[in-house]
Amino acid sequence: MTGGPVASVSTEPAAAPDRLAAARGDCPLCGADDHKAVHLVARSRDWRVVRVLDNPDHPAFWRVIWNDHAAEMTDLEPHQRSALMQTVCKVEAVVRRELQPFKVNLASLGNVVPHLHWHVVARWQDDPHFPQPIWGTRQRDGVPAHLMRLEVGLPHVDRAIQAELMSR
Ligand SMILES: [Zn+2]
Repeated sequence: MTGGPVASVSTEPAAAPDRLAAARGDCPLCGADDHKAVHLVARSRDWRVVRVLDNPDHPAFWRVIWNDHAAEMTDLEPHQRSALMQTVCKVEAVVRRELQPFKVNLASLGNVVPHLHWHVVARWQDDPHFPQPIWGTRQRDGVPAHLMRLEVGLPHVDRAIQAELMSR
C-alpha cells in the first residue's frame, strides 16, 4: 500500500469533499472486506461489526467500522456518534458476558487507515502482550491455553453479538 495522499491543512471548506474522495479511493475500509482477514458478524446501514481473523495472538478481537468514510469521531453528527458508541458498547457487553476476560480494550487509532473504526479486544493477563496494548512490545511467547480453547467458542460469541445488535 502506498502512503496515500496526506491531506494538507486547509481552512477552505470547499476542500473537504475532494479530500474525502481522494482518501476513499485509497481506503481499504471503503472497499470490500477481505474475508480471509475478517469475518462479518453484523451489518446495518451505518456500521458493520467484523471479527478479526488475522491476529492469532489475539483471536477474541472484533472491529466496529463506520461504513461511510469519516476519519474522526467529530466528523459524525451527534446521533451518529451515539449510534456508533452504542454498537461498540453492545459488543463489549457481549464479550464480557460470554468470555469473561480480565479486561476489554477499546481503541480507535486510525493512524494507518484513517477511516473511523473501533477495536474491541478481550485481554487476559497471560496473553502475549499484556499489560501492553496488543500493538505494543511482546511480553511472552506461546498462546495461553485459554486462548486456544477460546477459538472454538468464537462463532458462538459472534452469534451472541448479532443477537444483541439486532434486538432493540
Ligand atoms: Zn474509507
